[in-house]
Amino acid sequence: PLVLGIETSCDETGVGIVRGSTLLANVISSSMEEHARYGGVVPEVAARAHLEAIVPAISAAIAEAGIRLDEVDAIAVTSGPGLSGALMVGVGAAKALSVALGVPLYAVNHLVGHVGADVLREDDSEIELPTIALLVSGGHTSLLLVRDLVSDVELLGETIDDAAGEAFDKVARLLGLPYPGGPHIDRVAADGDPTAIRFPRGLTQPKDLDRHRYDFSFSGLKTAVARWVEQKQDAGEQVPLGDVAASFREAVVDVLLTKAIAACRDHGIPRLLLGGGVVANARVRELAAERTAAAGIELRIPPLSLCTDNGAMIAALGAQLIMAGHAPSGLDFGADSTLPVTVIQA
Ligand code: ATP
Ligand code: MG
Ligand code: FE
Repeated sequence: PLVLGIETSCDETGVGIVRGSTLLANVISSSMEEHARYGGVVPEVAARAHLEAIVPAISAAIAEAGIRLDEVDAIAVTSGPGLSGALMVGVGAAKALSVALGVPLYAVNHLVGHVGADVLREDDSEIELPTIALLVSGGHTSLLLVRDLVSDVELLGETIDDAAGEAFDKVARLLGLPYPGGPHIDRVAADGDPTAIRFPRGLTQPKDLDRHRYDFSFSGLKTAVARWVEQKQDAGEQVPLGDVAASFREAVVDVLLTKAIAACRDHGIPRLLLGGGVVANARVRELAAERTAAAGIELRIPPLSLCTDNGAMIAALGAQLIMAGHAPSGLDFGADSTLPVTVIQA
């Protein structure tokens, strides 16, 4: 089926078009720069930006795919989780398109969409299931057990405070680096020593593992970095930016991969899929490759343009639902900012 997917859960207005599991278009318009001076995504600003970008993005996607709008067989849209006002723009546009074109509408889960991005790989190799999936972005840090993309996704753990990308953004801010912080920390960390400072690894102590085996916590790490930097400054010493950035990055990446690989081992699943904007991090990719190779785990990372928020992954999940014979969502669903990952289709 020819499916148009709409994604507006955060700061990216994404419109993608797929035919089955073939990518035809992936248009992304981000309001990231508008949030820069606030140091994080401002919901109202994001929603307004979606409203301005959505129709041009749909037109651009149609042009990129080289199709006519009336050829589309179905519409898919992210209905949650995400920022309510932002989600509503995409949901409203999707309902309007569905009615205007007389085609079915599929409301899908954003997080499962990230997993669905894998089916769009150019090498056509199919994802083997079950798989463990680690999703790391500005808003999420989740470890999933995916048995079936359209019917069986289990949440193993998630962050109990800040998301990994959020930690990068907050630590960058306290180091005086611009927003979004991830790429800047990566750049500065390149000349630093990751073993210079031993920052805490959240929820990895034996006392935490019973209840939080697959959960993450990054707010303590952020505080530890802040305290370390303050002490240096109070002592009148120069803050070694490279070492702080590299040591902070190492702490985040170490925990992410330790927990993801533990999940693979515990469940006897030798496959790990990564998704989300933090996958752009050089050290995440490097350590993931090292540790999975050492543990005999197959590592899958979709191309970066499909790791960050995009409409193509939403279209792909919609197409998977259609091909599996799922009924459309109807028109009476809303935006659900806290949609659980187990609810694949709303
Ligand atoms: P959602 O959580 O809904 O997916 P989002 O817009 O926050 O939304 P993405 O756009 O996928 O998520 O990712 C943005 C996040 O990724 C930001 O927090 C940013 O700092 C982080 N990021 C981007 N590049 C890097 C990098 N090289 N290293 C670490 N983090 C990075
Ligand atoms: Mg984003
Ligand atoms: Fe996302």
